[in-house]
Parts: sequence; C-alpha cells; structure tokens
Amino acid sequence: MTRLATEFEVRKALPRVPPCSLWLKVCLAAALASTTACTKETSSTVSASAAPKPESAVTLPSPPQNASPETSPLPHIDAKRAFEYTREVTAFGPRYMGNENHKKLERYILDHLKGDQVEEDDFTADTVEGKFPVRNIIAKFPGTKDGIIVIMGHYDTNYPLRNIGYVGANDGGSSTAILLEFANQLRVAPGKKRDGYSIWLVWTDGEEAVKTWSDTDSLYGTRHLAEKWEKDGTLKQIKALMVMDMIGDADLNIDRNTNGTPWLLDLIYAAAERLGDQSHFYDRQGPIEDDHLPFFKRDVPSADVIDLDYGYNNVFHHTAQDTMDKLSPKSLQIVGDTIMETIHMLDQR
Ligand SMILES: [Zn+2]
Repeated sequence: MTRLATEFEVRKALPRVPPCSLWLKVCLAAALASTTACTKETSSTVSASAAPKPESAVTLPSPPQNASPETSPLPHIDAKRAFEYTREVTAFGPRYMGNENHKKLERYILDHLKGDQVEEDDFTADTVEGKFPVRNIIAKFPGTKDGIIVIMGHYDTNYPLRNIGYVGANDGGSSTAILLEFANQLRVAPGKKRDGYSIWLVWTDGEEAVKTWSDTDSLYGTRHLAEKWEKDGTLKQIKALMVMDMIGDADLNIDRNTNGTPWLLDLIYAAAERLGDQSHFYDRQGPIEDDHLPFFKRDVPSADVIDLDYGYNNVFHHTAQDTMDKLSPKSLQIVGDTIMETIHMLDQR
C-alpha cells in the first residue's frame, strides 16, 4: 500500500456519530466535489433516516428476503493459524516482484491451495525500473448462487525497500495470511458448492510502486486483472469486491476509505457491529488508493479494508519496523470474522 490523499480526515477528536450521519457526510462531501456517484444514494438515505428505525438499521442495505442474519451463528476464523501464516510469510524476507523470496512465497501460497480450483494471471510489467514478472494467484470457491464475491490482498513487498531489511509483516504479510485462512473457511467437501455466491480469493502482485507511487507506478497486478476481467465479462458478475491491506496492526482502526461503494462500506460496518467489533471501524475517513481502485473505477461495488494508521502517525508504514511484534492475532480475528460475516450478509441478498 498505498497513497493517501491530503484531505484525509481524522475524526478521533469528534464525538461518535451514528453511521448514517457519517454516511451523509461522505455523500455531501462527494456532492460538493461534483462527484455524481453518491447523489442518487443520498436521497434514499435521507428518506430512510426520516423513518423511526433503530440507528443500526438506517444504513443497512435492503433486508434479506430469505434468512435472518440476527439469528445465524457468528463466524469465527482461526486467528492463531492466520497469525502463524503471517509469521511464515514474513520470514521469507523482502518479497518484491520476481525475486527469489517472492517465488518461494508463490510456492507457499500454491501449496496451501492444493486441491482447490486455482488460476494464475501472469504477465510482464514494464516499469521505470525495468521489466518485472507479475503473478496474480486466484483461488475459486464455487457457490450455488449466480454471481461472484471477490476478496483480494497483495503479497508483494516494495522493490525500493529491498535493501533495508524490510519484511512487510503488516503490509503484504497480513493480507497474504488472512486470505489463506479465508480459503480454509470457504473450503467445502470435494465436488460440492458453498451455499451462496462463488468466492474468488486473489493474492495480488505488484501492488507496490517500484519507484514513486503514481497512477502508472502502482497496482500493476490489479490494473492488469481489471482490464482482463472487463474484456471477458467477469466484472459484470461481481457482486462485491473487498481488499484486505494492513489489517494486522495490534492497534486496529480500520479506515472508512471513501474511495469505495457506500452500501458495501456500510454492510462491513453492520457485520462488525453484529460481532461487537464496530469500535475498530471507521473512526477516520478519507480517500485512499489501493488494489480495489481499478475495479471501483469500472463501477464494481468495492471496499478497501485498511488501517492506514500503523504506529503513531503511521511511523511503521514502509519502514524496517513493519515487523511481527507490532501485530496481533486479535486484529486478524476482528477483520477475518467481520469479512466472513459480510460474506454471509451478501449471500442473503
Ligand atoms: Zn505498502
């Protein structure tokens, strides 16, 4: 990860407001910036707010027709195992596109997906630092419903940081690991389909810039994949796309990345709320550039689940201090459970 726009708003000093107010604020800001994406949604939110509903219901999308999420069991990923994956991934050392450690990590990921339906999206990126091999790894878990939920996380680390002992425990490590744990959770008996949408997990490559973050020097893997999926019609089948990035920080504060689809951001919050974990979400809001962007720009409902406050003033981000001792299994638990619950809620729609 990742570029942060300057207008990022820290809300720590503000009193907590109901999600609806927060949401309206986002839409108003978007409207002021002459963005049309939110305008249509704003009017429906205002009318919903006028109805005497409980606060938590105000920002939820349409209620499920055929199930009651309020009574379904809460998900519980194996966070200790996910944390161990993070440790093993981090132990490979610097993992920039095409280096030996990166290749070892590719094999490590593929070893964990034995027996699953796996595809690779390989190409060569032509960058300001030369040509690099890029490999997105996609694991598909077929479902009974028509449509796909995509969950992504990058596994590369930064080429410019290759000589400083940078290991990216949180930035690259935690995202790789939580997707491996999601695969464990999503696996069903051979030949069977999961009850719900198909889920595609994507370990993305080349998320990081090779020199300085820009539109052309970043997101190599996902820019390629979005273009490919646009051409082959996959994008139209995607019901929701969620990116995991820097989600292992022991001091977990997931940002509301306003480069995202409001109803999906709200659904994630509602899932966290059901688990009692909402205090770790959306204390801050603002636009962040990350792997979801090439899809979000193509109108795929998208959300970036990221905590871009890694150490006070984000001091550990992209430094040799991004190490395992800053992370916590509890954070992987909170994010993992929230995303599994979000999948469950999406499946009901
Ligand atoms: Zn990064």
